[in-house]
Amino acid sequence: MGSVSTSATRLRDDLAAGRISSVEATRACLDRIHQVDGRVQAFLRVDAEGAMAAAADVDRRRSQGLPVGLLAGVPIALKDILCTRGQPTTCGSKMLERFVPPYDATVVRKLREADAVILGKVNLDEFAMGGSTENSAYFPTRNPWDLERVPGGSSGGSAACVAAEMAPWSIGTDTGGSIRQPAALCGITGLKPTYGRVSRFGLVAFASSLDQAGPMTHSAEDAALLLEAIAGHDPLDATSADVPAPRYTAELDKPLDGLRLGLVRDHYGAGLSSEVEAAVREAVRIFESLGARTVDISLPHSKYGIATYYVIAPCEASSNLARYDGVHFGYRTDEPSMLAELEAERRAALASSGDSARAEAAVAAIDSPLVRLYRRTRAEGFGPEVKRRVMLGTYALSAGYYDAYYLKALKVRRLIRNDYDAAFENVDLIIGPTTPAAAYRLGEKANDPLAMYLEDLYTVTANLAGVPGISIPCGSTAAGLPIGLQLQAPAFQESRLLRAAHRFQRVTDWHLRRPDLS
Ligand code: GLN
Repeated sequence: MGSVSTSATRLRDDLAAGRISSVEATRACLDRIHQVDGRVQAFLRVDAEGAMAAAADVDRRRSQGLPVGLLAGVPIALKDILCTRGQPTTCGSKMLERFVPPYDATVVRKLREADAVILGKVNLDEFAMGGSTENSAYFPTRNPWDLERVPGGSSGGSAACVAAEMAPWSIGTDTGGSIRQPAALCGITGLKPTYGRVSRFGLVAFASSLDQAGPMTHSAEDAALLLEAIAGHDPLDATSADVPAPRYTAELDKPLDGLRLGLVRDHYGAGLSSEVEAAVREAVRIFESLGARTVDISLPHSKYGIATYYVIAPCEASSNLARYDGVHFGYRTDEPSMLAELEAERRAALASSGDSARAEAAVAAIDSPLVRLYRRTRAEGFGPEVKRRVMLGTYALSAGYYDAYYLKALKVRRLIRNDYDAAFENVDLIIGPTTPAAAYRLGEKANDPLAMYLEDLYTVTANLAGVPGISIPCGSTAAGLPIGLQLQAPAFQESRLLRAAHRFQRVTDWHLRRPDLS
């Protein structure tokens, strides 16, 4: 971005000191988007006009000595699953192609109140279901470190736009790893807050008991600043926690003496790439050299994490996505062709059977127009992965299977949570890999959903337990792809996570490396 710092914190300070204007900073982002997004494909929609107007407004108020917000003039990109008033919010789905929300998500409202400049909406897996951004109904986003590889997902657009320096930071969402995993694969910092720390109002629901929005940034310092702007209780979200949010930036440099890091024995088994393991072990040594003590711990039920998550998340999704029926809002199938289809079926039924009783039965078996409207709308509006989840979830919730699948998964979820509670009696943070391997090739796992689900091994348990987790860059593969380190903390201890990550980033430079897109 030319003379614009890619540290959002520096940029904010430069703006405050008048070394740069928000119009200049925003223009630099838009220029960069123009230069590289044709190749990266992170943005679904760039709101150049809106961003420039917001930037000019902040500059004007600042020059008049009027008060400005915490993030005054700093550009940001939003995952296209957060409702933006008057701006399309597609969720990466054909279903919401033309949906324009009449209100802002609370996260978006808070960003506007903080005077952040919204550049546009970035790509994701459809309804945040996926780990590669290949499930977007529009196009796949590419990893800026290697354009033939996936950026991770579902917040792949959010990660790629930051890694490629099109925006200094962004907002992503994480239901089973969708902030941390793309952050790891794109070499940036991604924080999933405690469940309830950030309001879900206006965040289009995937799995309501797991979803959280959070910062995707270059550094822990930036994540602290962004979390400060978006965290806090919200009466519009009944699951939002009524726990005061600290000033994360003010706590960043507080000492971390005697930090006890839990090394999860269960993490270092089959499936973990040797390059990722080596980078994580080196990161542990760095923490030790900074005075941390490591303790071997076990999360014995984490091996059931994937199975549990892939019951609970689809169950909640099947319920949440029932609203896309072609009536309330969003996509609707073409009604004249649907009615013609029903009429043709009726004629065929009448013609095919000789006796009138059988003909009547055949006609009665045809959908009513309303049912056909639902069916066609959903068949045409949803992509294959969303359909798979709706079917899995509907099955697991159906009478006769509910106890065996959904109820059982809820019980295992409790055991996973208990494991964390027990572990955090002896350690302050849990340290380990974010993903089993670095970014894979586009298309490599697209036809193998199970292989894709297994990528979420290390991230889903934090969502199931409701605890916060952060991924920070900690190394690079021989092929030059970023590797992510995950730290997890007890509920509402984001400050501890950020302090540890910040300490690590003061003595390492992985977070300062940028892909070459020239
Ligand atoms: N990859 C996981 C899934 O497909 C996580 C997605 C997310 O966190 N939104 O469900």
